[in-house]
Amino acid sequence: MYNLVIFGPPGAGKGTQSDKIIEKYQLKHISTGDMFRAHIANKTDLGKEVQSIMDNGVLVPDEITIRMLESEMSQHTDIKGFILDGFPRTVAQAAALDKFLESKGQKVNLVLELVVSQAEIEQRIAERSKVSGRADDSAEKLIKRIDEYFTKTVHVLPYYQAQGKVSKINGIGEIEVIFGDIAKAIDGSL
Ligand code: AMP
Repeated sequence: MYNLVIFGPPGAGKGTQSDKIIEKYQLKHISTGDMFRAHIANKTDLGKEVQSIMDNGVLVPDEITIRMLESEMSQHTDIKGFILDGFPRTVAQAAALDKFLESKGQKVNLVLELVVSQAEIEQRIAERSKVSGRADDSAEKLIKRIDEYFTKTVHVLPYYQAQGKVSKINGIGEIEVIFGDIAKAIDGSL
């Protein structure tokens, strides 16, 4: 199994590039944000629990997120690997993921860091909020989500850097050019 983490601030293009990676490498896509949104749409107990947290743009507690992720990953065994998008977002989540994968004789193979400036992110998300209708894409929520990234999520990078797994990708420019850099990094780690 080949396990890839795609990492970057909100609006860095993780979703767009994940779609292209899935097409080329046939990895199973897991987005914890999409999973939470599905729970909310289906009005599950978990959805009710996380709705206000997500609406406020803050992180869902680790325990809830880790449990949901592990349960989802356990359901897919006959696959080439996973692409994790939006997880891990804290060092505790990264450590839990390592432990989980280790118990299955697996590991995180590569972490792609999409590097995009804060000014570029703000502009992209402002545009996306006009078309997506995502409740957490409004200006105030955006500030909160970016803040969560720079105060909590960014610490995940040194965790993986210490393991020598991070590949930095310039996230500004043509989608195809960015994907070319991503494919090179993945091919070099296969
Ligand atoms: P995303 O679609 O990845 O931007 O996630 C949307 C929202 O879902 C985030 O702002 C958090 O409230 C929640 N969320 C998604 N993934 C995680 C995670 N790994 N840990 C905690 N909260 C998460």
